[in-house]
Amino acid sequence: MAGLDCQVCGKPAVGEGFVEGARVALCEVCSEYSRGFQVFKTYVPPKPKYSPLQAAGPAVARKPQGELRLVEDYGQKIMQARGKQGLSRKDFAKKLLVQEKEVEGFEQQKFKPGEAMVKKLEFALGISLLEQAD
Ligand SMILES: [Zn+2]
Repeated sequence: MAGLDCQVCGKPAVGEGFVEGARVALCEVCSEYSRGFQVFKTYVPPKPKYSPLQAAGPAVARKPQGELRLVEDYGQKIMQARGKQGLSRKDFAKKLLVQEKEVEGFEQQKFKPGEAMVKKLEFALGISLLEQAD
């Protein structure tokens, strides 16, 4: 079956019924307004032409999700959040089970915390140190 269109609204018809005395192809919605409606014997519920995901565009054309990078001013963020918690650098280092020098290094951005350390810092300070990469 080539697939008839609903003669009322133009959507794919699923059967035939009588509207104002005329036998017409009708979709599911419009069939409710008809009399003697019968679903096509050959009718098989159509598969959606595309999923919302595919409708958003081909996957290859999109950025990979979840690519995060350290914010530019992570040192300042760490320092400020630590200050808010009233923790000295030493106390904070203890809390994280790292050397004080390491905390100092992060805060002065001498070196970057690794992925696991970022999580630790974020959790301990209740802040976010990552942002979506371009
Ligand atoms: Zn219709």
